[in-house]
Amino acid sequence: MSLAKTDFKIVVFLGAPGAGKGTQAAGVAQEMHMTHLSSGDLFRQAVERGDELGMKVKSFMERGALVPDEITIQMVLERLEQRGEQRGIILDGFPRNLAQAESLDKALSAGPYENVDVAVYISVEQPELIKRLSSRWLCRQCQTPYNYDGSKGAVSACAKCGGELYQRPDDAMETVLKRLEVYFRDTVPVIEYYKQRGTLAEVDGGGDVEDITARIVKAIGDSK
Ligand code: ADP
Ligand code: ZN
Repeated sequence: MSLAKTDFKIVVFLGAPGAGKGTQAAGVAQEMHMTHLSSGDLFRQAVERGDELGMKVKSFMERGALVPDEITIQMVLERLEQRGEQRGIILDGFPRNLAQAESLDKALSAGPYENVDVAVYISVEQPELIKRLSSRWLCRQCQTPYNYDGSKGAVSACAKCGGELYQRPDDAMETVLKRLEVYFRDTVPVIEYYKQRGTLAEVDGGGDVEDITARIVKAIGDSK
């Protein structure tokens, strides 16, 4: 099966750590039959496996720093080539700085899909981001996030797959502040980059998960 260009969308998700990119990318991908490609998940899986990539990226992630572009760009572009028979791709966590955005455009311009169709910016206020990150638990098996602030008894298992829940080491307060700093310095310029290209769609990231998903699905559907 070959897909005409218009049937296939390349979508970028932008937003601060804690904005809900991962949750929303998973939900929107399922609803719209798209592939969800999360650079953070790929790195975390490599660290869990303890392979060569994992060993290279571990210390950067633990510090809340960005993994060097050379490693990140190569990993994402390799994955982009294996896109499968889906309606599109959601890039979650990539590009995260201007150099990555430019590399992505350059790689896409050489292939059949040419450019990013829409960049969805999920906007959330900073106090809310910090609150969400410090109460975030994840399923070790399927990556589903849960919110737990310590008020409702012990955290048990994943409701979807029964997997063990854990807190990401980089969700510790000190690392959260570092990640936010990196976000404002390196990633916020990427929002402006897509705005100038006329492909930015800003979505309010507050409220119920399902409502936010609906806003994003609409924004992607409305993009040309
Ligand atoms: P969050 O958006 O909540 O900070 P992610 O799961 O997207 O979390 O990323 C976790 C970590 O993985 C980052 O802090 C960084 O070290 C690394 N990482 C993920 N994506 C990239 C990227 N595009 N470029 C460089 N490093 C990345
Ligand atoms: Zn699970």
